[in-house]
Amino acid sequence: MDVFATYESDVRSYSRSFPVVFATAHGAILEDETGKEYVDFLSGAGTLNYGHNNPTLKRALLDYLESDGIVHGLDMATQAKRHFLECLQEIVLKPRGLRYKVQFTGPTGANAVEAALKIARNVTGRTNVIAFTNGFHGVTLGAVAATANAHFRDATGIPPAGTTFLPYDGYLGPDVDTTEYLDRVLSDGSSGVDTPAAVIVETVQGEGGVNVARADWLRRLQRVARKHGALLIVDDIQAGCGRTGPFFSFETAGLTPDIVTLSKSLSGFGLPCSVVLMKPELDIWKPGEHNGTFRGHNLAFVTATTAIESYWRSDELTRDVDRKADIVRSRLEAMTELDADQRLSTRGRGLMQGLDCGTGALAGKVAERCFEHGLVIETSGADSQVVKCLSPLTIGDDELERGLEMLQLGLLGALDANAAERRRNAVRVAG
Ligand code: PLP
Repeated sequence: MDVFATYESDVRSYSRSFPVVFATAHGAILEDETGKEYVDFLSGAGTLNYGHNNPTLKRALLDYLESDGIVHGLDMATQAKRHFLECLQEIVLKPRGLRYKVQFTGPTGANAVEAALKIARNVTGRTNVIAFTNGFHGVTLGAVAATANAHFRDATGIPPAGTTFLPYDGYLGPDVDTTEYLDRVLSDGSSGVDTPAAVIVETVQGEGGVNVARADWLRRLQRVARKHGALLIVDDIQAGCGRTGPFFSFETAGLTPDIVTLSKSLSGFGLPCSVVLMKPELDIWKPGEHNGTFRGHNLAFVTATTAIESYWRSDELTRDVDRKADIVRSRLEAMTELDADQRLSTRGRGLMQGLDCGTGALAGKVAERCFEHGLVIETSGADSQVVKCLSPLTIGDDELERGLEMLQLGLLGALDANAAERRRNAVRVAG
């Protein structure tokens, strides 16, 4: 009996794309219960930047458990939380000149987004929030209202409200500066766009198809937001924690967002942990106004602290991500040449790179073939047309090469299958 199909809700998704039962994992390698190995280019959708069961983080976790450290403490003060807050300030925020207070939200990324939106609305007294085409911020009611894809919006049962969508960078082609349009509509009392509390943006849209916003577009966006009294929220849940190279994805553009959301790889070990970083003057919360039983999971604090101490005291990881990103980029660019019909293109930043296959049908076939070869990789984008490479940042060069080789094999297989299908259709039509 297939226990999952029988007992688990039909809402399950990744288990459909990868129809095996996984048993163990280390680094960039997953193993199923038959002992077959897979290279992981999904990394828990960006949650395992330091790999599965990272030994340094695991040691710290096991030591903490052995010592009977507090595991659950609501949002009470604990030694683990103090250590995390100190490390985040000293190693990550202060060296970057960032002054933020930290709010521990419920454990999901969506809950951090909910809190960020509440802060912006409560501080400004405004309701509207500007979000962007192809943006993804989670599926709870507030967050899904800032999420563009109808697949998620249609499932809410009531109309998602309180947001206005504007074109993301590149949506209208490379020559159109969509921040000019934003400035225009916000300057015009007759544009129909209500003055916003905030602008929420991903610097690289992960679920939306690995769309990269240009640094100067992001800077202009920050300027326009400030000009109109709106807060800038950078949702760094997927692109943060080193995924694009630096700890924060907005560092390269030199932004100073008013609010930042972090989750996914923050704990470094796959343990749930989400935070909102906000400029101190925005912290107008009354105690417990945004609460939750699992705010501040102490095991996550332990691994998050160890991850920050191990990987962010120097720029070594950032440089390694840049180096590996070059490898991935050049291999993906070479792969685009394999399609005689020239439908393929690449984009991305750091180890967040995509191979745009033009259609979801082709990208889906590529991912399926890859899995047969032993590569776990997913698609993203409006039509799921982009195969997204999200390997752990700490992946070894050999495993990275192995994964890219399997991606190429998967692509070739999918292109062959497509060509064969077209030949069959042509014969059918001719017949
Ligand atoms: N924001 C971004 C940018 C994300 O990529 C995601 C998840 O993929 C979320 C928010 C939602 O996080 P969660 O799935 O933990 O609710």
